[in-house]
Amino acid sequence: MSIIEIKKKLLTKHSTFRLREKREERGSVHPFLPRTKKITEKIEKYQEWMGVNPHKIRIIDLKNRWGSCSDNGNLNFHWKCAMAPLDVLTYIVVHELAHLKHKRHSQPFWNEVDKVLPNYQNQIEWLKQNGASLDI
Ligand SMILES: [Zn+2]
Repeated sequence: MSIIEIKKKLLTKHSTFRLREKREERGSVHPFLPRTKKITEKIEKYQEWMGVNPHKIRIIDLKNRWGSCSDNGNLNFHWKCAMAPLDVLTYIVVHELAHLKHKRHSQPFWNEVDKVLPNYQNQIEWLKQNGASLDI
């Protein structure tokens, strides 16, 4: 077999693989489901660490918010959080989990965030600078 033939074969193999991968993605319930796993994994990790228990967690289109916490302890996250750098996603998760302890953005609230993420100001800055451009 010539080198060109081998290259062709490899290329065909590769494109078949990619096609199959795409089809599986399309077949899932929500196109962002594989990515939102990143969010739920973070929540699981930090809720244990912070000793809080969210009532219900939803990953939805939150319009102009990254996350929200309701009075009865339900947390909502925008699915776009999964597109943010990992550090920023961590901050958004920790921020909402901290609301389960302190409803308002009071000093005790920020102390709670600071305890878990001492560099959280950097993530706030990143969100200010890049938040609007977070899109597919
Ligand atoms: Zn908040």
